[in-house]
Amino acid sequence: MVIDELKAVIRDIPDFPKPGIVFKDITPVLQNQELCTAIVEEFVDRLNGLEIDAIAGVESRGFLFGMMLANKLNIPFIPIRKQGKLPSKTIGESYKLEYGQATIEMHEDAFTAGSRILIHDDLLATGGTVVAASKLIEKLEGVVVGYAFVISLDFLQSLGRLTRFSDNIIALAR
Ligand code: IMP
Repeated sequence: MVIDELKAVIRDIPDFPKPGIVFKDITPVLQNQELCTAIVEEFVDRLNGLEIDAIAGVESRGFLFGMMLANKLNIPFIPIRKQGKLPSKTIGESYKLEYGQATIEMHEDAFTAGSRILIHDDLLATGGTVVAASKLIEKLEGVVVGYAFVISLDFLQSLGRLTRFSDNIIALAR
């Protein structure tokens, strides 16, 4: 099964990026092209015909499967990036981190009003990042139609923060 294999291949890196944190490393997944294909197919299956106009992926690991999934569904990919990285006119949204805050940005012309957007990131932890991404989508009058994650650290805990935007939440490895 793809989920069992995925869980077996994700690597735990203790004390990265700082002491006490166990980092979930997906780079071994990227080295296995059959598993990558199976992951994209699993997302497509679970999306179950949901009408989606574009995938928005969050820098940087959200670009990996986000672009593959968009390509598979034959729809555009929208990069959401950290502040100062996108070259054209942007809108931004700031959110709290454990210490301090971060800002993510998206191009103002990323999609047309009313577009149905699926948000993708590699990993869901507190949900702060994708809540900020959802607010960006709504600022441009897009509709958040769902979320797709490769990994969720504490699925039930973070769910509550996302359901105010959409109930369609897919997390493969939990
Ligand atoms: P959240 O905003 O607390 O949900 O954190 C999710 C964001 O942090 C995502 O953009 C992830 O890429 C990143 N992140 C947090 N922990 C990890 C990890 O263990 N591995 C990979 N990415 C992580």
